[in-house]
Amino acid sequence: MDLITNLRLVEFDLSSACTRKCPFCSPGIPKHRRENPVYLHPGIIFATCMELVINDFKGCIALCGHGEPTMHPDLIKISVEIKRILPRNSLVLFTNGDLLTVNLLNELMVDKIIFDCYDFPTGKKVKETVLKSNKVDKVFCIDHARGVRKFNSRAGAVYASVCNNKPCDFMARKVFLTAEGDWITCCNDYKQTNKWRGTLKTMFNNQKHIFMRNHLMIPNREVLDPCKYCDVGTVGQNHCIMDEPSILDCDWDKK
Ligand code: SF4
Ligand code: SF4
Repeated sequence: MDLITNLRLVEFDLSSACTRKCPFCSPGIPKHRRENPVYLHPGIIFATCMELVINDFKGCIALCGHGEPTMHPDLIKISVEIKRILPRNSLVLFTNGDLLTVNLLNELMVDKIIFDCYDFPTGKKVKETVLKSNKVDKVFCIDHARGVRKFNSRAGAVYASVCNNKPCDFMARKVFLTAEGDWITCCNDYKQTNKWRGTLKTMFNNQKHIFMRNHLMIPNREVLDPCKYCDVGTVGQNHCIMDEPSILDCDWDKK
């Protein structure tokens, strides 16, 4: 399988720390990651971006992860450098909004910001902040606050026994680099069951990674850990396009 032809999304887990403890996330996070926060080294990010340039990568980059990306002390520098190395690739920041300020918004070099809104007061605060910034047309919102959020098993992080034995191309189409600098199964492997060190290509050509990708497509999740506990994953999803509404269309005064 050609790595770059199939890869659509590279996710950088900037921070193992978070400002929140959401019930669909926190149970799967190893305790030591929250208690002793680590932040992804910018050098690893830039080296990976150079590898993507060499391989003519055409997908997206996401600053996201199992913690809150805006906690990374070098977030602005990282965004500027990624856009310098990969100017034609879309760079997206995911955030819970807790630490967003006008200055941060104005200095960030990202194409899109996706705000995960978990409560109405934060939604109102973030919208006010965005309106004072020059990123008004770049901020979109996933409104978890208004709906009942379904707790997926998150590869066993929430429900240990749920298995959806359908094909999954997540390992073929997107990759996830943890704040410690390990490649893991996918974004849903909160427990970090499988880890690979090294370059993107080294990881992707590892025999275990190839074995897992192939068995996910058969599908044969039952022989794969953590996929045998997972009710997430699909085939053909466009990992770069999400159609959330603009934050300007969200009104947290109307419940
Ligand atoms: S990373 Fe996101 S989902 Fe997890 S605890 Fe933080 S805000 Fe909640
Ligand atoms: S089955 Fe679940 S854990 Fe496995 S690669 Fe797919 S989404 Fe990730």
